[in-house]
Amino acid sequence: MKDKLQSIIDQNRKWTNCGQVASYIPELAKADPNILGIAINDINDKAVQAGDYNYYFTIQSIVKVIILICLLIDGGEDKIFDKVGMEPSSEPFNSIPKLERTESGKPLNPFINAGAIACTDAVLGKNCKEKYERIVAMLKKLSNNQNLKINDAVYKSEKLTGQTNRAIAHYLKGAGLIDNSVEDVLDVYFKLCSVEMVVKDIAKIASVIANGGIAPWSQEKIIPTNANKIIKAIMTTCGLYDSSGCFAVRVGMPSKSGVGGGIVSVAPNKMGIAVVGPSLDHHGNSIAGVKVLEELSKSERLSIFL
Ligand code: GLN
Repeated sequence: MKDKLQSIIDQNRKWTNCGQVASYIPELAKADPNILGIAINDINDKAVQAGDYNYYFTIQSIVKVIILICLLIDGGEDKIFDKVGMEPSSEPFNSIPKLERTESGKPLNPFINAGAIACTDAVLGKNCKEKYERIVAMLKKLSNNQNLKINDAVYKSEKLTGQTNRAIAHYLKGAGLIDNSVEDVLDVYFKLCSVEMVVKDIAKIASVIANGGIAPWSQEKIIPTNANKIIKAIMTTCGLYDSSGCFAVRVGMPSKSGVGGGIVSVAPNKMGIAVVGPSLDHHGNSIAGVKVLEELSKSERLSIFL
């Protein structure tokens, strides 16, 4: 498998020259566009990696999966779908106009920024500090890595320049969808987006989802079965924003992307996969990363639609 992964990486390196690294968060503009790496963790906890798998990058929107997991565990289906919808969006991830047009300002789904910010506010914890700790503890547990760090420069950069997210959060507050102060909720969200990982950590998280919510390394049931089902459904329909349909056709695995260049993918009952390639398309998804996943999905027959 290692040789196969390496050859997929080698063949798709050419795509790292297309697209652009995210620059609307100034610190992200420093990312190396030539990076391309992959890690797999299967449901027997066997790990394989290839390419630039030692590259640390901020997980950005991939953390929205963890926020959703926490909220589903804390409050169940009703609590979450009180706050956000479950419909894919045909708009960019930080779009504002549709908020005004949906029922009582409800964000369309938990994976656009508006949805993730509303969900962050609703995670269990008597204040935002506790909510943050709850979500980070879940990240550590799911990645089986207690040593996760925040990239402070990215966190500060996003906090300083995140005016669009501020506008979204104020809108949510006005619509009664956020209980805590806008700045406190955003601070948690910005910090979570700035957690740094390597692809191996993220593949571990995906392997838990692939294994029905059970950690392959300890057999601990971390995600309840119904929550695990909902996560996979939302990843499939909303995970790559306004390119989720194309991704479903070409790759066909429940996935979630982030503007740091990472994508997490789940091959149910088989394996968890993570790729990184910081050069993005205009939707904010890694171009080379999607190509790598497309090829792997074809060669290993990983599409859930087969
Ligand atoms: N931190 C980023 C933002 O809120 C996350 C977006 C993303 O990864 N798509 O804009």
